[in-house]
Amino acid sequence: MDRTSSSAKVFGIDRERLRSMFGWLTPGQSLISHQPLPGNARFTAEEFSALAMLTAPYCDQCAIPFDPIEENGLVCGACLADPPPWNKARSALLYDDTSSQLILSLKRRGQRFGLKVFSRFIADAAGDLIDSADLIIPVPIHYHRLTARGFNQAGWLASAIRAETGIPYDEFCLKRTRATPSQGRMTARQRQRNVSGAFSLTERGRDRIYGKRIILLDDVYTTGATLRACARTLQRAKPANLDVVTFARVVAPANSPI
Ligand SMILES: [Zn+2]
Repeated sequence: MDRTSSSAKVFGIDRERLRSMFGWLTPGQSLISHQPLPGNARFTAEEFSALAMLTAPYCDQCAIPFDPIEENGLVCGACLADPPPWNKARSALLYDDTSSQLILSLKRRGQRFGLKVFSRFIADAAGDLIDSADLIIPVPIHYHRLTARGFNQAGWLASAIRAETGIPYDEFCLKRTRATPSQGRMTARQRQRNVSGAFSLTERGRDRIYGKRIILLDDVYTTGATLRACARTLQRAKPANLDVVTFARVVAPANSPI
């Protein structure tokens, strides 16, 4: 059967392709229960109130919930013991059963229609970092995974944040040179080993990062192993500042399926 029959086309473009290009214009639909909603709504009132926004207080360097008054400092014990190779970190949501549905809509189902909402959540949570940034760099996926999946969800988030804030992004500064197995069931140490040496700078990256204020962006901060490997690589290009921003933050990595 001809999949590109005239009935499936709009102005000569395949309807499915159009849907994937302009999916964020999908009229009201829940990102969690997928039920139809009025206007451009993305959540029911109950779903929205169930979202666990990651609000202060949190560790300034890894965004884990943390009480700086009780602990007498801005940085948690884990970051003091093993400082990450970046300056500050922010995350929009706590990773839980509800936010994991949003991540899955993006990462597994390739649905773009939540991106505008996600970028607003991120801009609200990380406005202090994003406002002073020169460039956003999404965590790259390997070429093989990119061809199989067809997109990089961190790149999609970066594009949505640019639309929301005007801060540019570049997907070609950092490269994943080694295909790594999925980290879903790995321990923190296994994750470290898994991503060690898996990233490299491109020539373009060396040119664009030097002396600039950079944000490294990913969908989920689990143990930080991938972010640390990327950040160490980016630091070789000597940015003026490097911060980390993620959509969701896992608090108990052992329970994360991502
Ligand atoms: Zn910390």
